[in-house]
Amino acid sequence: MRTQVAIIGSGPSGLLLGQLLATIGVETIILERSSREHVLGRVRAGVLEQGTVDLLGEAGAADRLHAQGLLHAGISLAFDGRLHRIDMTALTGGKHVTVYGQTEVTLDLMQKREAAGLTTVFETSNVALHDFDGAAPFVTYAKDGATHRIDCDFIAGCDGYHGVSRRSAPEGALKTFERQYPFGWLGVLAEVPPADHELVYANHQRGFALCSMRSPQRSRYYVQVPADERVEAWSDERFWDELRRRLPPQTAAAVTTGPSFEKSIAPLRSFVAEPMRFGWLFLVGDAAHIVPPTGAKGLNLAASDVRYLFAGLREFYRDKSEAGLDAYSAKALARVWKAVRFSWWMTSMLHYFPEAGEFGQRIQEAELDYLVHSKAASTALAENYVGLPY
Ligand SMILES: Cc1cc2nc3c(=O)[nH]c(=O)nc-3n(C[C@H](O)[C@H](O)[C@H](O)COP(=O)(O)OP(=O)(O)OC[C@H]3O[C@@H](n4cnc5c(N)ncnc54)[C@H](O)[C@@H]3O)c2cc1C
Repeated sequence: MRTQVAIIGSGPSGLLLGQLLATIGVETIILERSSREHVLGRVRAGVLEQGTVDLLGEAGAADRLHAQGLLHAGISLAFDGRLHRIDMTALTGGKHVTVYGQTEVTLDLMQKREAAGLTTVFETSNVALHDFDGAAPFVTYAKDGATHRIDCDFIAGCDGYHGVSRRSAPEGALKTFERQYPFGWLGVLAEVPPADHELVYANHQRGFALCSMRSPQRSRYYVQVPADERVEAWSDERFWDELRRRLPPQTAAAVTTGPSFEKSIAPLRSFVAEPMRFGWLFLVGDAAHIVPPTGAKGLNLAASDVRYLFAGLREFYRDKSEAGLDAYSAKALARVWKAVRFSWWMTSMLHYFPEAGEFGQRIQEAELDYLVHSKAASTALAENYVGLPY
């Protein structure tokens, strides 16, 4: 088989890149390790920057997003027993974010790809990347007991943190930066109306909590738990009790409880791999970087990488210029590091760090108090949250 761009991974970055390339007539084949059902069943991010929404529109996959996505003009920070609203729209000259689940983004992109008759090979194994620093890259994979080969111009490594693409970088060529946090997020999805019409980020001595949602009838809640916590230790009842203890009284009273239909623990980590390009192999999204979800940046960063890589590939195929591809890694990383910084800052300010003691708690309280009373500080939060310019 031959294609122009072989894409490894059918998460949001692989699917979005494939769809954008389809709009300019560039052929792609996506290789995915999991089944279609598994990919569509993964509950993850839910807050989209305007730039991500615009890019999904450019890919022709934003009709349902525009019809069903919830526009949010602000978030609330909860501490000291009260809610403090940050009016992001007022502070950023009219910008907002859109709440729309990653599962829905993935479904929209997948349906678009299927309707256009483009190839995705699910349930592949032993995907291997070859000769991407030479003139004739190719990818091999196993499926149904046979080995297959795809020759291509470029390989896009969109296969997430645990994928094969980053591991295929030449020895010594990759520099990595990492911070592990000593806690994770226990998340619950339930078919109940949200406690607030906007997201509530709570700092509490018992630990962080987040009230989020996927729709006016579906809530997503999180509580900070130790990194080695087991999800089996959390009945729904225990979860709802703990969540409400960490919220201001009026927000706790507004929590509607109900049976959860998804419950999982995600570890929190910051990770960046540099560079994001090795010859004709490009790393995209979680394959190159991970951020803790506190700033809602993971999915949005994946989209911003796609935007830069798509621009480079378009320039290559339309104008026969490699300038955009040459600039890809540096451009993407400049934006990645700003989001890594923002996510680390939000995480540091809002979570309970056992080792920081009472001094750390007082510093957090002072920072939150400053943040909600200083227009300059609130604006810095707002402009990062809605998404920095490309
Ligand atoms: C549990 C969890 C919760 C999260 N919650 C949030 C959140 O609340 N907010 C937020 O902003 N972000 C969140 N994120 C981050 C966000 O979901 C990711 O940033 C986003 O999914 C990145 O998209 P991606 O396409 O780059 O990678 P992925 O979504 O990881 O997709 C990679 C794809 O590649 C496939 N793959 C892997 N290895 C191979 C291989 N060898 N061969 C072929 N295919 C392969 C995988 O099966 C997968 O389908 C969360 C992530 C996780 C894991």
